[in-house]
Amino acid sequence: MRNQQDLLTMARERLASARSVVVLTGAGISAESGIATFRGGMDALWKDFDPQTLATPQAFERDPEMVTRWYDWRRLKCLDAAPNRGHLALAALEDRLSAQGGRFTLLTQNVDRLHQRAGSRCVVELHGTIMEWRCCRTGKPVPTPSGAWGSFPPASPHAAGALVRPSVVWFGEALPEAALVTAMDVSRSCDVFMSIGTSAVVYPAAGFIKIAADNGAFTIEVNRDPTPISSGVDCALHGLAGELLPRLVS
Ligand code: NAD
Repeated sequence: MRNQQDLLTMARERLASARSVVVLTGAGISAESGIATFRGGMDALWKDFDPQTLATPQAFERDPEMVTRWYDWRRLKCLDAAPNRGHLALAALEDRLSAQGGRFTLLTQNVDRLHQRAGSRCVVELHGTIMEWRCCRTGKPVPTPSGAWGSFPPASPHAAGALVRPSVVWFGEALPEAALVTAMDVSRSCDVFMSIGTSAVVYPAAGFIKIAADNGAFTIEVNRDPTPISSGVDCALHGLAGELLPRLVS
């Protein structure tokens, strides 16, 4: 059995020679920026909250004040946070590949926009973003304030009596069509697929790595803990994304 150092070297070499890389990130990559993950670990955000009571269209209908207060609290936490070494390493990897004429696509389940703030350009937001909000009736964007919303639930300026909701994908809602199509396309045609900081249980995102592997890609996982995909990837690296990623792409 290979040790972690051998695996790291192998993953580095594959990334260095790849022409097309797809990275899927989850909440774990932002954990070192101080943003709580959903599952796993004592800091998990939903240790004290039931996701079904907060991240569903039904919850918003039932208690829009609680749901929008909770999302706005999270939005402000994301604004306060800074990208960490993991985010920065991925932005550097994209720069390197682009300079060599290669292709890099970052699929993220995160809603915090930290990848973009780190300099990543080709980012596909699979679950939307908490930084943008929209009218729940017309779908038109509503500019977010720099601080908290003035009242909860915020009222939409676009339709009488309508509310404003975060532009995230709630449980039970479909992923944005364009994001899904792009994710499937790039997963099918990449040389290397790397899954980082995701518990790999939320579909369809968790299925992209299999699409990549079935089409011949080399697969890498970077996660603090083992996940359902760990035993099936070519290279499972266990540790913190902020420590491992700079070593993988330097
Ligand atoms: P998750 O909470 O289910 O899993 C996080 C994973 O990251 C776990 O496997 C954990 O072991 C691992 N992890 C924790 N700290 C790590 C670190 N420092 N380095 C490497 N790995 C680490 O998150 P998920 O799989 O992204 O779940 C999907 C849902 O979570 C999505 O719907 C997403 O929108 C949402 N989410 C996003 C954010 C964010 O935008 N930052 C935060 C919480 C949840």
